[in-house]
Amino acid sequence: MAFEADAAGRAMGVLAQDLTAMSSALFPAPGTTAPEFPTVFGRELVGELPNFAYRPYLVVTMSDLWPAFEHFFDSHLAAVYEVKTLDLDQLTADAQALPALGSIIGLGGGQAIDVAKFFSWSRRLPLFQVPTAMTTNAPFGHRPLLRTGGKAVAIGYAVPQGVYVDFDVIRSAPPLLNRSGVGDVLCYHTAHFDWKLAHETGKEEHRWPYDEKLVAEARERFDLVFAHLDDIRDVTDEGIRALMLAHRWGGAAFHNAGWNSRHMDGVDHCYLYALEYVTGGRHFIHGQAVGLGTYVGAVLQDNEPEKVLGAFQRLGVDIRPEAMGITWDDAATAMRRLAWYVRYADLWYTIADVRPVTDEVVEAVRTGLYDTFGAAA
Ligand SMILES: [Zn+2]
Repeated sequence: MAFEADAAGRAMGVLAQDLTAMSSALFPAPGTTAPEFPTVFGRELVGELPNFAYRPYLVVTMSDLWPAFEHFFDSHLAAVYEVKTLDLDQLTADAQALPALGSIIGLGGGQAIDVAKFFSWSRRLPLFQVPTAMTTNAPFGHRPLLRTGGKAVAIGYAVPQGVYVDFDVIRSAPPLLNRSGVGDVLCYHTAHFDWKLAHETGKEEHRWPYDEKLVAEARERFDLVFAHLDDIRDVTDEGIRALMLAHRWGGAAFHNAGWNSRHMDGVDHCYLYALEYVTGGRHFIHGQAVGLGTYVGAVLQDNEPEKVLGAFQRLGVDIRPEAMGITWDDAATAMRRLAWYVRYADLWYTIADVRPVTDEVVEAVRTGLYDTFGAAA
């Protein structure tokens, strides 16, 4: 009996071990239990909205998009709000002036999506989101990015009932808008270096200690996007799924990591803000300018800059300053003033605080860019 009990005990022990191994393989220990937004991929999705959006509904969109979508909506459309500004005060007033509504439908790229979130929050209304391009992860994030007094603010909170990703709608967007969305994922590469650097030099933020698990999670999404660069360039169904699922993770990750995005951005975004500053607040296609920032950052970090450059070349996203409507001098000025700017704007500690942008660094970036994409016209 004793033997049998012992054997049974050992068998149970083995079983328990197996179960632990099995369940941890099936359910890897999560960094968070917060979910990502319900997301539906499909076709002819816009035409279905009037059949289930709570009535009457408001469509928040852009004036250049509305003519292509107007015919999908019916008499339960209470109003159309065409986004003209991201100014917090103006949007607060506009939210108060909206008619009685059952729900909000956001239809567009980043701006319409953000304003739809803000209205949903202001008026406590259910939200349905339809991204029309893959530009950013805005459709998958909780807080709208607005402006006040020339500064960016993330005021509000909205979880949509669903995010509807229509393959044909996405494919009809300008190719650069879709492809450049990759920039907001490739920057994880430089972000991870910066977070580790801050950790190793004792400069990390108290509320965001370096977290290897978060970095590994982000790296998984990065690798998946990296493996689908051709599909994303061609905007195939597979490419749309790969990039939008990465955005879906990234959009929710800020909230889900405790309002931390250290695993997603670093010097790459610092460079974009410096570029906006030196060009007097010029507006850029986010992922394209972040792409240049990622390359500049990778050169400074000595962190596989060719890999970054090669990815943008393969995607067909030209990250030369001229392709963004600015000059090489603007781009070089933003590089030379980067170390000053990050302290002026009080940004996170990154490579920009450690390695000065010397003439050699500027020259390396210039050579890399123009050797890859050709000399400026
Ligand atoms: Zn970004």
